[in-house]
Amino acid sequence: MPGPQAVSAGAAGADTAAELDRARAGDPRALARLLSLVEDSSPRVRSVIRDLLPRTGQARVIGLTGAPGVGKSTTVGALVGAFRAAGRRVAVLAVDPTSPFTGGALLGDRVRMQEHATDDQVFIRSMASRGHLGGLAAATPQAIRVLDAAGFELILVETVGVGQAEVAVASLCDSVVVLLAPGMGDSIQAAKAGILEVADLFVVNKADKPEYHQVVRDLRAMLALAPREPGGWKPPIITTVATGGLRDPGIVELESGLDAHWSWLRSSGELERRRRGRAREEITALAFAALRAALTADGIDELADRVAAGTLDPFQAAEELLARQNA
Ligand code: GDP
Repeated sequence: MPGPQAVSAGAAGADTAAELDRARAGDPRALARLLSLVEDSSPRVRSVIRDLLPRTGQARVIGLTGAPGVGKSTTVGALVGAFRAAGRRVAVLAVDPTSPFTGGALLGDRVRMQEHATDDQVFIRSMASRGHLGGLAAATPQAIRVLDAAGFELILVETVGVGQAEVAVASLCDSVVVLLAPGMGDSIQAAKAGILEVADLFVVNKADKPEYHQVVRDLRAMLALAPREPGGWKPPIITTVATGGLRDPGIVELESGLDAHWSWLRSSGELERRRRGRAREEITALAFAALRAALTADGIDELADRVAAGTLDPFQAAEELLARQNA
C-alpha cells in the first residue's frame, strides 16, 4: 500500500504533466504557473523538475549581456522578430539581479515586446532577485528547464551587466552574446571584468553613431591579446543598429552568427562539454547548499563556544562537524 507521501507525490506528478501539456500546447498561464513554482522555491520544485526532465535538452539557450543602456532589450526584440519570421518558437527570460520585481510584469517587457504581445509562440518572463542573489542563481537554471520542457526551440536569457551575476548567468547558456555600444564610457572596461572570456559573439550596437568605430577598434585590440585555441571558435564582432529591427543587416548577421556558433558547438563536441560542465556546477552548488544547511543546523554553537574559549582548535571542530554528518 502506498503511504500518503507516495499518493501525494503521484498526484503532484500528474499535475505537472497536465500543466506541462498545456504549456506545450501554448497556454501561457500554465507555463507562468510552473515558472512561479520555480521562482518561489516551492517545495514542489524538486518533483516538478524530475517530472519534466525527460522533455528537456532540446532547446538552444542564448545569453545576452551587457551594461544597462547598450540596447539588450531592443536587440532581444529584434532577434525575436528574426526567429519568429523563421517560424521558430521563442522564450525570453529577462534576469535582473538588481531589481526586486518579478513575475513578468515589468514595464520594460511590455514596452519592448509590444509587437510580440499577441504572438502565442513568444513567451516573455522577468525574473528578479528580490534582494537575494543566491535564490536567483538557483532558480534560473530551473526556469530554463521549464521553458525547454515546454517546447521552446530558442530561449533567450537577457541579463543586466553587473559583474559576477552576469558571468554566472552566462555560464548557463549555450551561446553568449556580449553587447557593447558607443557613448558608454566604461563598456570595454566592463567587458574586461571577466565577461570577455565567456563571449561567443560580440555585438557593437548603435552603429548609427560614428563613435562605434572606436569601440570596434578597442575590442579588436583586446581580442588580439586573448589566447585562442587552434581550431577553436573565434568570436565574431557584429555591428548592429538594433532599433532598425529586421531591416538592419546586423540583426540578420547576428541571427546567422548564432546559427553558425550552434553548428560549431554540435560538430566540435563543445555542446556536450559545456552542458556537462554546467551539470557539474549545478550539482556542486546544490550539494554545497545542502551540506552547509546540514552542518550549521545543530551543534555548531557548542563547537563555536569551545573554539572561541580556546579549548578546541578550529580544525578539529570542523572535523567533528563533518564526522557527525557521516555518523
Ligand atoms: P538595455 O538597457 O541594454 O536593455 O537597452 P535598451 O534596449 O533599453 O536601449 C537603451 C536605449 O538605447 C533605448 O532608448 C533604445 O531605443 C536605444 N537604442 C537601442 N539600440 C539602438 C541603436 O542601435 N541605435 C541607437 N541610436 N539607439 C539605440
